[in-house]
Amino acid sequence: MSKVLILSEHQVETLLSMRECIAVMEEALRALARGDVHNPLRSAVRGEGALGILGLMPAWRGGTAPYYGLKEVCVFPGNPARGLDSHVGAVILHGGETGEPLLFANASAITAIRTAAVSAVATKLLARPDASVLAILGAGVQARSHLRAIPLVRDIKEVRVYSRTPAKAAGLGKVVGSVEEAVRGADIVVTATSAREPIVKREWIGAGTHINAVGSSIAVAREVDSALVAASSLFVDRRESTINEAGDYLFAVREGAIAGPEHIRAELGELLLGTAAGRTSADEITLFKSLGLAIEDLASAAFLYDKARREGVGTWVEF
Ligand code: NDP
Repeated sequence: MSKVLILSEHQVETLLSMRECIAVMEEALRALARGDVHNPLRSAVRGEGALGILGLMPAWRGGTAPYYGLKEVCVFPGNPARGLDSHVGAVILHGGETGEPLLFANASAITAIRTAAVSAVATKLLARPDASVLAILGAGVQARSHLRAIPLVRDIKEVRVYSRTPAKAAGLGKVVGSVEEAVRGADIVVTATSAREPIVKREWIGAGTHINAVGSSIAVAREVDSALVAASSLFVDRRESTINEAGDYLFAVREGAIAGPEHIRAELGELLLGTAAGRTSADEITLFKSLGLAIEDLASAAFLYDKARREGVGTWVEF
């Protein structure tokens, strides 16, 4: 009888430290760039009249510890008003030898941590070494997670937070009254909102800024305007995902601000492998478009499966 390990939200948060997750994400992005993984595009189930969607993110990783992984996650935008995470579900890990399920781990916690860890990887690779002023747009799950991640890779001296609902940003940093006030003069900008229309304008962004565009992770939403995409050197988690799923990119193409895929400078994994160059001058605006990849969830789950067994954490159930 096979047994499955269950990890709760709290157990994932305890085991998957942000610092360790940054290293796990670097290796996952390198594996992607080497071609050692299979990561199909996401699919979504949208029930007519449903209050949210069910997203499916499958992946496979080869090598000495092969796994299949699947994140199945419901995205319900109304959840925060009920005190719930907007992303709820599980990351399931299957062993590469027999395909048996090994792990069911809380997807809210993995999504919060791995997304911010990937932005930290991008910031480490692309922000100016002396970047010290961080602007965070949004005050939800991702905003809070990024607030823990970015200071691990740059010496942050000032944090500005803009939230549509200012009370939600209390205690996160210097709360400012507008997006413009947050981003003018900032060295690093994180957009972590559920906005559908651009909230960041080109004219507010100074030379040398690095931006992590995190929130607009679907084709019909964007957070930065087309002029900013055009003015930036664009880096992505994966080209194929960007040209199919990234509103920030797709609207800029549709509006004629950028020509197409050739505007993408590199994937993060290519920078990590040294096969592409990152920032080339202190004046360059670098933009990392984050979509989130199934391989990031799989890599987090594989790390958790090893660590939880070593430390005796989690609940085993017969399956
Ligand atoms: P939350 O619901 O916890 O937070 C959303 C935040 O966005 C809130 O601060 C909300 O403000 C703000 N917001 C919503 N609409 C607007 C708007 N029009 N203008 C300004 N602010 C707005 O969500 P998460 O933090 O979990 O996720 C944030 C975004 O990141 C989502 O779009 C999500 O899909 C995306 N995401 C991306 C991932 C990736 O890998 N790239 C992974 C996971 C999530 P208020 O409180 O006032 O409503």
